[in-house]
Formats: sequence, structure tokens, C-alpha cells
Amino acid sequence: MVAEGDSSTEVVVSNEHGLHARPAAKVVGVAQRFDAKVTLTNLTTGKGPVDAGSLSMVATLNAQQGHRLRISASGPEADVAVATLSALADRGFDDLPSEAGTADATPVRAGRSGSGLDVAVGPAIVADQDVDLSGYQAGDVDVERQRAKDGMRVAEEQLTALRDETAKTVGAAEASIFDAQLALLGDVMVQDAVFRAITQGEDKSAPDAWKAALDAVAADFEGLDDPYQRERAQDVRSVRDRVLRALVGTAAGGDLAAGGGPGGGDHAAAGVLVVRELDAATAAGVDAERIVGIAVRAAGTTGHGVIVARSRGIPVITGIGDVVVPAGAVVGFDARAHEFVVGPADGGERLRAVVRGRAGEREAALAEAERPAVTLDGTTIAVFANVGSVQDAADARGADGSGLVRTEVLFGERRVAPTVEEQVEVFRAIAAALHGKSITIRTWDIGGDKPLAFLPQEREANPFLGERGIRVFRRRPELLRDQLTAICRVAAETPVQVMFPMVTTAEEVAWARAELAALKPPEGLKVGIMIEVPAAALRITTLAAGLDFVSIGSNDLTQYTTATDRGNSAVAGLADGLDPAVLQLIDRVVRGVPDGVEVAVCGDLASDPDAAVLLAGLGVHELSAVGPQVPVIKARLRQTDLAEAATHAAASLAMPSATAVRAQL
Ligand code: PEP
Ligand code: MG
Repeated sequence: MVAEGDSSTEVVVSNEHGLHARPAAKVVGVAQRFDAKVTLTNLTTGKGPVDAGSLSMVATLNAQQGHRLRISASGPEADVAVATLSALADRGFDDLPSEAGTADATPVRAGRSGSGLDVAVGPAIVADQDVDLSGYQAGDVDVERQRAKDGMRVAEEQLTALRDETAKTVGAAEASIFDAQLALLGDVMVQDAVFRAITQGEDKSAPDAWKAALDAVAADFEGLDDPYQRERAQDVRSVRDRVLRALVGTAAGGDLAAGGGPGGGDHAAAGVLVVRELDAATAAGVDAERIVGIAVRAAGTTGHGVIVARSRGIPVITGIGDVVVPAGAVVGFDARAHEFVVGPADGGERLRAVVRGRAGEREAALAEAERPAVTLDGTTIAVFANVGSVQDAADARGADGSGLVRTEVLFGERRVAPTVEEQVEVFRAIAAALHGKSITIRTWDIGGDKPLAFLPQEREANPFLGERGIRVFRRRPELLRDQLTAICRVAAETPVQVMFPMVTTAEEVAWARAELAALKPPEGLKVGIMIEVPAAALRITTLAAGLDFVSIGSNDLTQYTTATDRGNSAVAGLADGLDPAVLQLIDRVVRGVPDGVEVAVCGDLASDPDAAVLLAGLGVHELSAVGPQVPVIKARLRQTDLAEAATHAAASLAMPSATAVRAQL
């Protein structure tokens, strides 16, 4: 924290996206023009004062639209510095209104669906390593300064091209990632730090100086309270590596791993992307036409990046560990068999045959996709799709509707909460893409690993055990009310179910229902809750009284039952939805719900064809899976004898481990 000066004024942040990277860069530019020490304080959050001459510090104020800022300055030009910054604030920081972050009501993404076969083979596009600087030959100070400038210019050209291409082929929200990265490249403070280090010989080479400066900025972001802002450290590292690659003259997989997605230019060839961890932005941004699969070093299959990639039909394998993968080497994997190979002796032929075999099965399943999933003994199992975008809904061939619309994913990039009207439009588009079949809209499920940009949360010691899902809205119900209003409006036009996440107590259910009732919902709007907390499963009979349905979120139910953070690869081996302890809770829900309350499963367990059969055997007659799996699951269920499945399912409850359950599937 720095001291405030003696000339000061207060302003309100008026621009839509707050003081994000671009307007923050403007503030920094102005602050540096004057012979004054300028500071900013976010009076709304109490954060600051921070040095207004540092982009990273200004960005870390997390100043959102409507926040009050104090601008203070000391020194000979303090008054004029404050007046100029105040005028800039009055002009909304010269931040042009943009559409960035608007959830689009129409499917626009080109090449969005991958093979969905859980198997992939191709040259490795490695985006998991630090840029190798070991071969770099440093010149004298002038040479290094010039190289640093050239590196930044090359990166700027690439980022500009990426932004324009992404805006065209993917959407404005994804393209805005590159605006923030461009602003960082143009940050005078960062440039000064780099040139100073080169000139003063601290980090004499351009790559060392650049890396040190950007690592410092990334560390600033990582220290922030707000998870959304913390995640921006990834943008910083992405810019860092882009310039480093330009400096050492390597092409790399970074475009695809940094949310750059289509049009990266560096990677015209198809291949398997290899990353350390898979974040949702990368998963949403990669070009499914070129990236035939993603291999993730970290373990864990229920993180949001993995979910997004799978819902796009991109094969993903996780937990490949530290295996050495040379860029360009043929790699392949079969996620179902948990097999990952580097440089196979047969050049990948065997895996290509698996691809062909599964493609054949999928073709057959697709041909039958629209037929209902009726088991051999005549029971119909509804198979829905989980969707996080209108495109997901459009891609969900054969789905009987949507059993989970993840609203926080739909509007995840928004810096400002969507209006009721905007939500209505997107929900309507999803229903239309599913031909008017029933859609289950889950109310905002935020917290834990799901930050929402427009609803910053305080740092929590244990976010997964903190204010998540429905809990968030007890203190601030307005956003929930807006969403429920939109849901009610759409429910008057088309079949809709509303579903509340992360419920623990009957009192929470009563509160949520009272909020809904106050809006006078239309007849026919079905109401349900997610069962994700073991306590909810254990007291299902009282919790579900009066509801239309419950839907088991097996991802979180597994996390909480086995006490394994779903994003922590170190313990991912313990987090298996087929753990008999989890299955016992599911069984309890099926047996314990009051008559007439439907039981569904919408966690990722329902996307695994073998597990889907087991769930049907336990008596779950509604499943919601990632879109590309829907036809395959339907095909499997059509070959299932439910009585036999029930016998197997009952036996699995008494088994000692998930491994034992898997072995008998
Ligand atoms: C779940 O927890 O299983 C679920 C469907 O919700 P999410 O994965 O979005 O937390
Ligand atoms: Mg969940």
C-alpha cells in the first residue's frame, strides 16, 4: 500500500466493464505523464491506495462499474494530474462500449464439434512447457533493447491478428481476451522495467528481463482476492510466453492453450494438444477441427475445462503426468482405457483403427439417435443433454431435452450481469435449438472453481465449502430474482424446469421456493433441486417433499463424499463417481424420494455409457449427459436388460472400491 497525496477527488466508474486492463492502461498512461505521485483507492471495496502508474496495481483494484474511486496525487503537478484523471473517468476512461462477453443467442462457432470418441491420435502440439531460453545468445545493451522492442512488436501483430480472427469465427467475448493481453504489451511500466533491467544489467538479456517483469505482474494478479482477477495471471503468462517465443524464434502451441483458439496461424496442422492443466477458456477456444484431442498432465476429470472440452466433443485424457512429449511427435490416447502413448512403433495405426471403430459405432448410434432409449424389457429412460451454450443445444443430437443448462457457463464471460431480457433471449434460443423439448435451467451456480466476473466474491479459505450455489444469494437475492423472472417468462412459452444448486437444508429449499413463488410462476414450471451434498442425499425424504424432481450432481456429490477437491490433481485418484459410497447415496436418493418426485443424474457419471447402465439399474430413469454422448448412451440403454442391470447395481453397492465396481461393468 502506498501513501495518498494531498490533492484528491472522487469519481465513479461508469464504463460497462469497469477498470479492466484496457482502461486501466489509459489511467497508467495519464498518471505517468505528470510530475506527480498518483494513487488510486477503491472506496467501494476499501482496496488501495495503489500506485496509478502501474497497470498491474490498477487492475488489481478490481474496480467495477459503479465503484467509487479516490484519485490522489502529491508533487508539483498533483492538481493537474488529478484533474486530468478525473476528466478521463468522466469520459468512461475512453473505453468504447463493446459487446464483449455477451452470451450469444445464436450458434456461431465454426468447427465446434469434435469427434467425441474419447480417442485421438496425431502430432503433439505441446503447450505445457516453459519457453526454452537456454540457447539464446545475448548481444550488447543496444542489441537487447532492440530485440525486446521487436519481440513485443511481433507479439502485438500476432495478438491483433488472433483477436480479429477470433472475433469473426468465435465471438466477441473470446476475442476480448486478446484486448487485455494487448494492453499488457503496451504497458509503459512493464516496458520501463524491461528496458531498465537490460540497461542496468540486472537481467541483461531481453528474454530474462521480459520474463522477470511479467512474472512480477503475474504474481501481483495471483495475490488478488477476487478469483476472476486471479485467473487473469494466466493472460499475463500467455503474453510472457508469446514474447519469449518471438525472442527465441520458436513457434509453439501457446495460441491454442491460451484461449486463442481458431485462427492462431501458428498451427495450421491438426494434432493433439498437450497442456499442464485445462482451463475453461482454453477448452472453449480451441479449434475442434484442428485439435483432435487434448492430453492434460494434471489428473481430474470433473474440472470445468474438461467438461467444456467434452461437451464440445473434443476427446480429453487427463492425468498423463510427466511423460516426455516432444513437439511434433506422434501421440495418441484412448481415454476409456486410460492409455496415452508417445511415438508408438506402429505410427499410431492401432489407435487410428480404434478411432474408425468408434466412429462406426457412433454413426450407428447417430442413425438411431432420435429414437427413445427403451430398454430390452420396455422401460423408457430419458436421455437429456447438459448444455453451456446455444451451440451445445444445437449439437445435442437425439437429446430428449436438456437436464442441465449451466447458466454460469452461458454468461461466464460477462463483466456485467445479463439483464432479464438477455437471459430470456438465450433460454429461448436453447429451447428452440432443442426443438421445444423440456429444458432444465439451473440457477447461477457460482463459487468454488466457478468465479463469475460480474459477482466478485470475497476470498474464502475453503471455497468449495463456502458460499457456493444457492448459498451465495441468501445475502444478495437480486441477481437470483432477475434470473427467476427470466425463467418464469420462458416457462410461459415452452416446457421449463428450474433447478437450484448446492442445496443442503430444507430451509434453503423453502427459501428458494418462496423467492420463486413471489414471482407468480406460470403453471407447468417444474421445480427441483440438485443433490450434490451428502447431507442432502441423506435427508432426501424431507428435502424433496413437494418438489417435482431432484437431479444428482455426481461431480460434486463425489467431491464431498470422498473429500477430494475436484480441481486438485493430487487427490483425483480418490474421486471416482463409481465409489460404492457415492453409489450408496444415489441409491438412497432413489429409494427415499417421496412418490411422484423424479430422480435424474446430471453429473458426468451419466456421460459414461457403462455408468449410465448402472445408474439405470439403481432406478434412475432420467440421465443428462454431455451432448456428444447422448446417442451412444441411448444405444447402450437399448441393449440393456434392466432387471439384470439392477442385480449388478445392487451388488456394486456392497463392493469395496470403485475399481471393483468398474471391473464388473
Ligand atoms: C455436478 O456437480 O455433478 C454438476 C452437474 O454440477 P457442476 O459440475 O456444474 O458443478
Ligand atoms: Mg455441481
